[in-house]
Amino acid sequence: MFEKILIANRGEIALRVIWACRDLGIQTVAVYSQADRYALHRRFADEDICIGPAPSAQSYLNIPAIISAAEITGAQAIHPGYGFLSENAHFVEVAESCQLQFIGPTAHSIRLMGNKAEAKRTMQKAGVPILPGSDGPIGDLESAVKVAKAIGLPVIVKASAGGGGRGMRIVREESDLERSISTAQSEAEIAFGNSEVYIEKYLTNPRHIEIQVLADHHGKTLYLGERECSIQRRHQKIIEEAPSPVLSSSLRKKMGEAAVKAAEATQYRGAGTVEFLLDDDGKFYFMEMNTRIQVEHGVTELVTGVDLVKWQIRIAAGEHLDFDQKQIQIQGHAIECRVNAEDPFNFRPSPGLIEHFHPPGGPGIRVDSAVYAGYRVPPNYDSMIAKVMSHGASRTEAIARMKRALGMTVIEGISNNIPLHLAILEDANFQKGEFSTKFMELFMEQYRNK
Ligand code: ADP
Repeated sequence: MFEKILIANRGEIALRVIWACRDLGIQTVAVYSQADRYALHRRFADEDICIGPAPSAQSYLNIPAIISAAEITGAQAIHPGYGFLSENAHFVEVAESCQLQFIGPTAHSIRLMGNKAEAKRTMQKAGVPILPGSDGPIGDLESAVKVAKAIGLPVIVKASAGGGGRGMRIVREESDLERSISTAQSEAEIAFGNSEVYIEKYLTNPRHIEIQVLADHHGKTLYLGERECSIQRRHQKIIEEAPSPVLSSSLRKKMGEAAVKAAEATQYRGAGTVEFLLDDDGKFYFMEMNTRIQVEHGVTELVTGVDLVKWQIRIAAGEHLDFDQKQIQIQGHAIECRVNAEDPFNFRPSPGLIEHFHPPGGPGIRVDSAVYAGYRVPPNYDSMIAKVMSHGASRTEAIARMKRALGMTVIEGISNNIPLHLAILEDANFQKGEFSTKFMELFMEQYRNK
């Protein structure tokens, strides 16, 4: 096992990794930007090193600074968290060339899955269901139009290098096709430095269901059930839950086995997530694989009792997964609400000083957060300031506990989206578990008119 791990991240996920390291008896090194001088991950790590000014390009994405920090402190491994360098194959190669173990999959797996158009091709070969669309990236406009006509409108044009809900365009009218494709290409070039796009069938009312997998270095790949992530705004998840209110155990098994196949097709190691769209007929289609720990991993931990972050570290150290598929049982129901520092109505970011903070507690509540009273949320990074999770014997109990928890959360000084979460939790369709990725669009109309 490693003696010391450097955490190349900030915020709640950096703390989450520190928790896992403490439990495993591993020393930690925090890296921080000048904007994060008063951040908790710095305070709770055993050592800390400043890696540059506030902009991420000069700090949390600064590969030479992070590698130097690992060398200076004698860390043996790097945990990348999510975002930042977590899916950067080049970073993995640089780390490995410096004899630093990257806690995650190989550069090869990351590259295979990092290009979404190529990933779909790989999945098709492996026998994982995919949505009809272009065979890989589309070249010229003419062939793109041909593909779109063949599969039928609506279609979605997606950037091969896309992520974080960006770089997608829905096309409903044939007359919009050419313009949408060229706009998508130029947007992708600006956002990701890669103009490559592909086309696939657009499903109008799907659910976003993702499967958590864990794979060790000894040929064992397991699935840990699903997460329902259909409550999204602009393709960004807001509320996630496990299990999904609609999956039967036979569909769970089918999707789980497809996810394992997907992981095996790329010789996957560590924790990963295979994202699917599920339609009304119970048919599911591969969307993409995230080759890192995800924001919403906690709901899976609550219902399976498996510590995913600890397993990421243990797998990277060469340990065997010491349980089998049939030992993974889903216990009760868990929900996560992402609490963001933003206006709950117009969604504008609301960085600044948190004057009072009282996190919720009590039976069935878990809070992953890195803020405190007197902390100033910097404007430079993601606006998520806390993940409030609830766990109950049933979905009804998980919802009740979440309402109790959010109702007793105090965040003063900055705006946050707890009012939005509470309104969603009161929604009749949400409570019945009847929703798709369209939910927020419909919900926002009534919410705004209230
Ligand atoms: P990102 O990597 O940016 O998160 P994804 O490929 O995971 O992008 O897609 C994000 C969301 O966009 C999905 O959860 C879903 O709501 C929507 N989406 C993507 N592809 C389709 C599709 N073919 N049909 C309908 N919705 C889609």
